[in-house]
Amino acid sequence: MSVAAPINPSTNKALEAPRLGEPYLLTPGPLTTAYEVKAAMLRDWGSWDGDFRAMTAALRTRLLSIAGDEAGEFDCVPMQGSGSFSVEAMLGSFIPRDGKALVLMNGAYGKRIAQTLSYLGREHVTIDKGDYMPPRGPEVGAALDADPSISHVVVVHCETSSGILNPLREISDAVYSRGRKLLVDSMSAFGAVPATQSDFRYEAIVSSANKCIEGVPGFGFVIARKSELEAAKGRSHSLSLDIHAQWDYMNKTGQWRFTPPTHVVAAFLEALRLHQEEGGVAARGVRYRRNRDVMVAGMRQLGFETLLGDEWLSPIIVTFFSPAHENFRFERFYDLMKDKGFIIYPGKLTVADSFRIGCIGRMDEHVMHRVVQAAEASLAEMGVDTATPPSAALAERARLAA
Ligand SMILES: *Cc1c(COP(=O)(O)O)cnc(C)c1O
Repeated sequence: MSVAAPINPSTNKALEAPRLGEPYLLTPGPLTTAYEVKAAMLRDWGSWDGDFRAMTAALRTRLLSIAGDEAGEFDCVPMQGSGSFSVEAMLGSFIPRDGKALVLMNGAYGKRIAQTLSYLGREHVTIDKGDYMPPRGPEVGAALDADPSISHVVVVHCETSSGILNPLREISDAVYSRGRKLLVDSMSAFGAVPATQSDFRYEAIVSSANKCIEGVPGFGFVIARKSELEAAKGRSHSLSLDIHAQWDYMNKTGQWRFTPPTHVVAAFLEALRLHQEEGGVAARGVRYRRNRDVMVAGMRQLGFETLLGDEWLSPIIVTFFSPAHENFRFERFYDLMKDKGFIIYPGKLTVADSFRIGCIGRMDEHVMHRVVQAAEASLAEMGVDTATPPSAALAERARLAA
């Protein structure tokens, strides 16, 4: 796979600005999409028609190739709904009713997994690392050694609530060296962070249309080992979220069981085409990392500090502490940034005031330079001369580094 040079906005209109006068969405999905992706939705499709069935087949094949399934051991099952629907489908379909899960939590999405298992009535235990500390291989191993009845470990790849990229390789090694199975919520990483079996082993991985592939919201997809798909027959708690049933029906008929989001699928195929044209996972990862590096360097020059040290910063979204300055108000900062064409994202920490800036979507480092300029101007308008965070926030961060 060749890594394309970053797309130059002066030669690529699609990256220059979202047309139609929209602001950039510096949020982790829905995100800023290419004009071509939006334009692909300007026609109607019959869900049963051969043309649309071919689109569904192409989507599944392309996603399997992104997951690096050369051996043909996996299959891809798209599922209607937002990403959480696919996570719930994965949990209910692959964890046996008498199974037991260990959920690794370090933020809102890990918590949602445990909450989902409670709804499903699946027995589970957790390792809760708080807002953002990474779960590490040795502690996962120790938990598995202590409880042989744990059959599955469930982990979030990039925990979007803090922006931490969790160490999947060491976690997966700890799981499989003890003969257990791994299920991954890679919602905000798949397509930009490598996730093949040689990167880390897993039984199933989930993502959705509106994250790093840069489509619009409307469905998720599960990529799972075929033997797990077969074993899932009759296991799901839910008719509509039964992955085996969706898989089986799709393989037999080429259709989705219930009304598919036809326009979203058409947009997603265009997004997949652009993903491949850019150079696939590697090139997309390069662009997002450059977005992050340019944005973080600029924000640090203004005095902002990141919650996480460089080692844990994902190329997906970055959490910044709110400045200590008495004139700083996040709501006002948000409005001033929006006036300048940028939608940012509130923080999700319990310990310190924070906000987040996403690096994903149809934008490049030139856009990120303008984000930093907009932040500088917005601070000036608020009468904030430095964005340095409160010392308590920095002490909290030091605890992470220790
Ligand atoms: C976006 C996201 C989800 C799914 O959220 P929805 O709102 O249901 O689309 C799940 N996990 C992670 C890590 C995410 O980033």
